[in-house]
Parts: sequence; C-alpha cells; structure tokens
Amino acid sequence: MTRRVIEPGATLGVMGGGQLGRMFVHAAQAMGYFTAVLDPDPASPAGRVAHWHIQTDYLDEQGLAQLMQRSAAITTEFENVPAAALVTLAAHRPVAPGAHPVAICQDRAAEKAQFERCGVACAPYSVIETVEQLVGAASLLPGILKTARLGYDGKGQFAVATPDELARAWDELKRSRCVLERRLSLAAEASLILARSANGDIVHFPLQRNVHRGGILAVTEVPARVDPALEQHAIDASSALAESMDYVGVLCVEFFVLDDDSLVANEMAPRPHNSGHYTIDACDISQFELQIRALTGLPLVKPRLHSSAVMLNLLGERWFASGDDVEQPPRWSDVLALDGVHLHLYAKLQPRMGRKMGHLTITAASADAARAVAREAASRLSIDFD
Ligand code: ADP
Ligand code: MG
Repeated sequence: MTRRVIEPGATLGVMGGGQLGRMFVHAAQAMGYFTAVLDPDPASPAGRVAHWHIQTDYLDEQGLAQLMQRSAAITTEFENVPAAALVTLAAHRPVAPGAHPVAICQDRAAEKAQFERCGVACAPYSVIETVEQLVGAASLLPGILKTARLGYDGKGQFAVATPDELARAWDELKRSRCVLERRLSLAAEASLILARSANGDIVHFPLQRNVHRGGILAVTEVPARVDPALEQHAIDASSALAESMDYVGVLCVEFFVLDDDSLVANEMAPRPHNSGHYTIDACDISQFELQIRALTGLPLVKPRLHSSAVMLNLLGERWFASGDDVEQPPRWSDVLALDGVHLHLYAKLQPRMGRKMGHLTITAASADAARAVAREAASRLSIDFD
C-alpha cells in the first residue's frame, strides 16, 4: 500500500507521554512537524515538550477525538496502549504501528505464536491458564513465570525452580494468564531494531549487545561483538516477523544468545526501544527519525553507525547514592568532562528505584575507546559497568 506523504508542517500525534515519546517529539520538531501527545500524567516527559498535551485517559472518547482532530497521523510510544484506542483512531487517521501488531506484542502468548509462525526459535514455553496446565508445565522447570500481559522491566515475572514455587508465583500473579518459559543459560543478550514502511521497505540498525540488571536494561553496546552470521540471523528473523504482521513503524526484537552461539527470540516491542537510544548520537539517522519517516511515508534509508557507542541507563537509585532519603542528582560535570559523553535526561519529577530517569551515550572512534570512557563514566557515577 502506498500512502500520500505527510509533509513537515503537519501535526504528528503520539499515544503515551514517556521518554520514548519525548525523543520522538524532539526528532519530529527538528524536522518541522508539530506534535500532540495524549497522556493522563500532567508532568509526562513528552507532554511537557509537545505543542499540545491532551491530558486524558487512553480510552477517553473526547481525548481520542482531540488527538485525531489535531493530528495528521498517529503513533504510539508504549506497547500497553489499549488496542481498542488504536482501532478507534485508525478509522479516521493513519496509525502506525497498527492495532493488530500492537495487540500481538502486548501478549506474550500471541507473541510466541507469531515467532513460531515465522519459524523464529524461542525458549520452550507453556501458556498457563488452568491448574491442569500449571501441573503439566512442570517439565519446563527451572523456569521463569511471566504474566502474558502488562509486564515490563522485569515486573510481573518470577524465577521458579520447583512445582511449589511455580504454584506460589502463579498465585502471586493472581492466577492470571501466564507463560512459563524454560530458564536458559544466556551467553549474551542482543536486540535488533528495524523500520518498515507502508510499502514494505525495511531498514535496520546494527545488532545491539545488551546487559540487563534485575530485569532492567543497564548497558547497550554497538557494534555487538558477535559473529556476522549471528547478526544476519537476527536481521532475517526480525524482518520476517515485521513482514508477517504487515508491520509499519519501528520494531525492536530482543534476543538471547545461548552458549552454543545459537539465537532465540525473547520478546518484541512495537516502538523504538531503550536499546536504540544510542542511535541519536551514534547514527546518522536515529530510531525516532525512522519512526517519523515510517509514519509519514517519507523514504526510509539505511541508517549508518558513524561511531562506536555504549549507552548507560540512569536509574532513579543514582539520585539516592548518598542515603535512602537524601535525593541528590549526580554531578553531571564529572562525566561531561569526558570525551564523547552525551547526557539525556527525561525531566521526570520524581526519581524512584528502577525508574528510568535518563541515559548517557558514549561515542568514540573505536569500540575499545567507547568502552574505556564508558567504564570511567560509570565509575564516576558509581554504576556497574562490567
Ligand atoms: P520484560 O518485558 O520485563 O523486559 P523479558 O521477558 O524481556 O521481560 O525479561 C527480562 C530479562 O529477564 C531478560 O532480558 C533476561 O535478562 C531475563 N530473562 C527473561 N526470560 C528468560 C529466560 N527464559 N531465560 C533466561 N533469562 C531470561
Ligand atoms: Mg525485555
């Protein structure tokens, strides 16, 4: 399907006002678009920088009507936006990604079924909705029990080793629809971000190497230091997934690299991704610009990584380094004195444990140089690196 191009000067709408929306708004404004954000939070990071902040619930009819009235096209910045809201919007405006792929990515069971349809390997798993299924899934242990919906940053999941622990974890998750996955031994984690246009063109960033701590992304590094065949495998698998969903927009697929160097898919995000924040500073086109191009029908061209990069997430705990009840921002001048350090803060009012407050991207001419500066920056901020 070829769509009319939505030219700069038009208004682009975003469902959700978090940091991903904020960086989308920054990129859209740089290209001469106006922006409208729908998010109930008066202090939402994207709402504060958009031209219009529609402050209603995601299913509020008046809010959705206002967003449509303002916007020439609409995208989303978090995957838990109700699919029903996207269906409503899509009746009147181009919406990318569409409600159908977003609904798949919102549900771990549907997501894994999509992996299987595309021949993309994932961890052995069982869907758990009944006590019988719970008992039958014990052969997967030790495993990780995850809620099918609404989990993020390691929330809504439990590592379980025995049938007793599994039963307790399921109770803890209120016996909601869950997926039990075998716990795999991970040699590394990686992610692949691509953009697909309405007429089926696909471009992608290099594979990214990710380190998670406590279920939350801590570090991303590019190039990923993996075998080129493995990277190609990730590109092919991600492209097949995007095509199978007739996906339009930016898609991130998270992968596990196993000890035998094989690759299995973990989950997908129907939007730009935390592991792609480095693209703002290290690529000639960022993941947010690709989101704009895919949404508006502007050409997609292959982004070029012009610098090696390391991204360090800045979590709320860094604001309480001197004691649990003393809130103090890090001394940014300590890290900004280092070469190639780019500071991004999301202007969130309340730092909290595990809350993503911002990130640092370190760019350099070589991967070793980027790692050396990242190690020093992490040490100056007292955050773990290796
Ligand atoms: P979230 O939606 O919270 O990001 P994920 O399913 O991506 O949830 O899990 C978060 C992290 O937990 C992963 O990045 C990985 O480090 C670890 N993890 C998840 N599933 C498995 C698994 N089956 N085996 C080993 N580690 C896992
Ligand atoms: Mg994840």
